[in-house]
Amino acid sequence: MLPPFDPWHTAMTAFDVASSSKAGPADLARMRAQRLVVLLEAARRAPMFEALIGARDPATIHLQDLPITNKAMLMANFAGWVTDPELKLDEMCRFVADPTRIGEAYLGRYLLWESSGSTGGSGLFVQDARSLAVYDALEAIRRPVPRPFEPWLQPWRWLDERTAFVVATNGHFASTLSVERLRQLNPLLARTLCCVPFLQPLAQLSAQLMGIAPQILATYPSVAVMLAEEQLDGRLELHLREVWTGGETLTDAMRATIAHAFHCDVVNNYGASEFMSLASECAHHQLHLNSDWAILEPVDDKGLPVPPGVMSATTLLTNLANHVQPIIRYDLGDRVTVHADPCTCGSHLPVIEVHGRSGDLIRLPGAQAGEDTRVSGLALSTVLETVEALSDFQLIQHAPDRLELRTELSGPGTGKMLRQARSVLETYLRSQGAADVHIACHSNCPSLRSRNGKVQRVMAMP
Ligand SMILES: [Zn+2]
Repeated sequence: MLPPFDPWHTAMTAFDVASSSKAGPADLARMRAQRLVVLLEAARRAPMFEALIGARDPATIHLQDLPITNKAMLMANFAGWVTDPELKLDEMCRFVADPTRIGEAYLGRYLLWESSGSTGGSGLFVQDARSLAVYDALEAIRRPVPRPFEPWLQPWRWLDERTAFVVATNGHFASTLSVERLRQLNPLLARTLCCVPFLQPLAQLSAQLMGIAPQILATYPSVAVMLAEEQLDGRLELHLREVWTGGETLTDAMRATIAHAFHCDVVNNYGASEFMSLASECAHHQLHLNSDWAILEPVDDKGLPVPPGVMSATTLLTNLANHVQPIIRYDLGDRVTVHADPCTCGSHLPVIEVHGRSGDLIRLPGAQAGEDTRVSGLALSTVLETVEALSDFQLIQHAPDRLELRTELSGPGTGKMLRQARSVLETYLRSQGAADVHIACHSNCPSLRSRNGKVQRVMAMP
């Protein structure tokens, strides 16, 4: 069965997103207010929101009067959170446990994304054709150089342009599913888009990429840096037109390394499983919040708003596109600064900075004396997340060849789980060419969380 897609709604949304890209602050505020009323009307079909909103007219409700929500709270009351009673959590969990169903429509009309993330355990997010149309339009149009008309204006270039997404392919994750969905909807894209697993030895990954010879590489900043270093060392030879990054913070130094190695532009974005395309980069390398479809409230650790220019303790998201699983004042756990001054590019979409989604690179001793092996922190946390019931952990590098795996968990079964985690980690590190790495495991550790509730899963040696 084909993934969810509504051609008419997609075309209308693309037109709307294109025409709103240069909208002024008043028009953006009007769009947000109207969409919030429609969202609250729809949310009332979910029992939890019905209890909150009651018989009140949604047009009279102030967003700040609604309670703050988070992933753990909503997952614990999943049946009350969704507006379609046919969405049953246990059946959905069985569906996402099956990797052969990646990209398939659930109940014929939904896409299911799972997320592990660094806050509050795993989550399951439901998208329908309407919310996907919004993400599709934002991805295609809100770019330094919009490309929605390229298939018609330069079909030869578009048809020949290959894009390699180097991502986690071992689950129903938003990044992999978005690519698989496009491939299934459009046979032409199936020839030019591909997902490449980043959980494989670097030499193997480089060889696979050279076989594909993409013009566009899309991946996490830390993985792009690792590949950039391979390119600079001559072990990788790619001729890229652009590198797209997302999922972690891209620092100026990371951008410079990637651009220098591949002699091309780096385009960054900010998204989450809860809203795929939260902010897009302009030609001036500023991240603009897509504030016509998403409301972000930067707040302090008491949940009170912080002024523009000040880094928040966390951020509350209201997704104006998703009416199936309303995301309202949802604590994303990200520290964000929203800037008051408009960007010199002319867009009135607010400029934001996202802090602390750090992607540490770990350097470990290689098999040959004097050689080192680089592994991305994201890869290590993805590997550890495959260990069942290891819901909370932190991996710290204390010395070049010494790692410590810590967990807050305790009680029966924890020792066995940690032994399994160590074995999975050792196997992965060996496959990456790391040798003689000692991994100490500790359970019942004090809280690993920082004040904003996030855990930095992997910490490299300073
Ligand atoms: Zn700008």
